[in-house]
Amino acid sequence: MTKRNVKSLYIHIPFCKHICSYCDFCKMYYHEQLASQYLSSLEKEIKTYYQNDIIETLYIGGGTPSSLSKDRLIQLFNSLKIIKQSDNLEFSFEVNISDITEELLLLLKHYQVNRISIGIETVNDKFLTFLNRDHTKNDVYDKVMLTKKYFHNINVDFMYGFYGQTLQDVKEDLLFFKSLDVPHISIYSLILEPNTKLFIDKTKPLEEEIESEMYFYIIQFLEELGYCHYEFSNFAKKGYASKHNLTYWNNEFYYGFGLGAVGYIDHYRITNTRSINHYNKGCYVLTKDYEDRDIEMSNEMILGLRKIKGVNMNQFILKYGQTIEEVFRIHDLVKQEVLKIEGDYLSINQKYLYLSNQILERFIDIR
Ligand code: SF4
Repeated sequence: MTKRNVKSLYIHIPFCKHICSYCDFCKMYYHEQLASQYLSSLEKEIKTYYQNDIIETLYIGGGTPSSLSKDRLIQLFNSLKIIKQSDNLEFSFEVNISDITEELLLLLKHYQVNRISIGIETVNDKFLTFLNRDHTKNDVYDKVMLTKKYFHNINVDFMYGFYGQTLQDVKEDLLFFKSLDVPHISIYSLILEPNTKLFIDKTKPLEEEIESEMYFYIIQFLEELGYCHYEFSNFAKKGYASKHNLTYWNNEFYYGFGLGAVGYIDHYRITNTRSINHYNKGCYVLTKDYEDRDIEMSNEMILGLRKIKGVNMNQFILKYGQTIEEVFRIHDLVKQEVLKIEGDYLSINQKYLYLSNQILERFIDIR
């Protein structure tokens, strides 16, 4: 069992000014008074559970953290003052294009944010309308250039796999993203989640074959631009891989504060309520489940194999006292070259990445 060592902290801000048609995140429309009340509860939650760990990665996500007014942002940052930060803290903050202003960027910089993650998804007018995003292609270019005046560590989100989308549409979006010249790109295919407008409207999914062709095209395109494909959905220029997300994929402990947030502390997976009424009454936690050694080993593989480099087999032995082969039935997958062993690492063969969900299912069960 790993010893307690919490280096990462996630904070959820559940407010948005605009609701996108595909979104099943924990979010609600922005309301200044409710936001103020929520941030007071958030501060209390942090004070209750934070145990003076020195934090190396801090991530404020949502929802849309940038939807907060200036006063609410200051309230949020003030509530973080009790958190001990390492000297080389990676401090990420999610913003929406429509919220980006010089004033916002200066404020974020003032409070030591040093990584900005921008939800763009697409710049194709037809699909922007389909996703109900609230920006245009011109907005995106101007706002990203403005952000680059103040920050160099920037991620942009790219989405594909919309019904009716062609490979040519993806290529055009990619050429635009190339022009932004930012050091990190996260890519996602559209998933039609229940309780979203797209799902309720019975939107059709894109054919799997076309989606897989798009995925491999995107990988090739971004790798040719010098991005390192370091996780299924993530690409970074040298030195810009997200340290915070690596905490998740390395199956390490992290705090999760805020509505609907999930944390993993001392082998407990802690999931917060999605009810703002409960949350504001101080009932933060919805479930707290102990993850025994078997669950931990499964997660180690399911999360670790998301990394393109894979799982370090020696570290697995050091952590659990058994080899991966002793714990999981992987012999046939290695023989069929679905999984590959290179040096100390076990990883998914790149040509099977698209089937990763089916492959990872094999690690749910221990021998
Ligand atoms: S996708 Fe982001 S901006 Fe859109 S509704 Fe969901 S949380 Fe809000």
